[in-house]
Amino acid sequence: MKISGRTRFTAVFGDPVEHSLSPAMHNAAYEALALERAYLAFHVAPGDLHNAIRALPALQIVGVNLTVPHKENAIPIVAHLSQEARTLGAINCVINRDGELYGDNTDARGLERHLRESGITVDRRMVLIVGAGGAGASALLACARLGAGAILMCNRTIDRGIKLANRFTPWLSGTHVEVGGLEELANPRVLARAALVINATPMGLKTGGFARLEYEAAPAHCIFYDMVYAREATPFLAPALALGRPTFDGAGMLLNQGALAFELFNNVTAPIAVMRAALMSALGRS
Ligand code: NAP
Repeated sequence: MKISGRTRFTAVFGDPVEHSLSPAMHNAAYEALALERAYLAFHVAPGDLHNAIRALPALQIVGVNLTVPHKENAIPIVAHLSQEARTLGAINCVINRDGELYGDNTDARGLERHLRESGITVDRRMVLIVGAGGAGASALLACARLGAGAILMCNRTIDRGIKLANRFTPWLSGTHVEVGGLEELANPRVLARAALVINATPMGLKTGGFARLEYEAAPAHCIFYDMVYAREATPFLAPALALGRPTFDGAGMLLNQGALAFELFNNVTAPIAVMRAALMSALGRS
């Protein structure tokens, strides 16, 4: 990739950000399309987020992705919000359109697209979502759109799950939502009803393990989907893999939310096969 005086930039803002695989995906796409654009990663501390986002027009930065911990805090900084961002209460991308800053969120659409393209159907069946933060909200919206009959959202802090479910009531027609604590995961009767179990938490990644979960009680075709991705099996997926259950990690969601953001930034169709290959290579899977 050649950087010239004409190169325009896109980027990801996060804290931390060094681990991000987005530069690999987006830069491969720019190269494939021969666009004079490049994608950078900026380590932006929470106290600098306002100034960093407000600098986009002056620097003619075309758009940025936002990752942990900025997705909710960025909402009051942008001038315009998509309906999806309002619904989710978080933005994962800011688009600079002629100096006006627009906030959008491609996480739920990215997850939904990956579930659909993977042939995962939950029509009128039960989905178990672990987590009630931003990722849990995306999972709730995606599964409701896929026609889930019932969703049980289990969160360490039950009150947070209840608030999320209440806020989403207008978008959940036809999907019955219940909220519980993590102890629900150890209940075989709960797992026996599940068609899909989604982990939307980083539980077990740094310390401790994943909460006790009755993997064996789930039907043989029940799918275990981790929004987290890693080079090796995640703490949530490892027991499911050991039992030979169908599993997916968060790489597919990352790819799809990234491709949707690429299209918002650049107004061109994302070369998704190129982005997938770059992501898989960065994950050491090619
Ligand atoms: P968040 O808003 O901070 O929410 C974190 C969630 O995890 C909350 O439900 C929290 O429970 C729970 N949690 C955190 N540590 C826990 C622990 N030790 N034990 C039990 N529960 C714990 O974060 P987020 O944005 O939702 O992100 C969650 C995960 O999804 C992250 O690992 C992120 O990387 C991943 N993600 C992946 C993609 C993708 O494209 N693949 C996209 C978005 C997010 P409490 O409410 O009790 O604190």
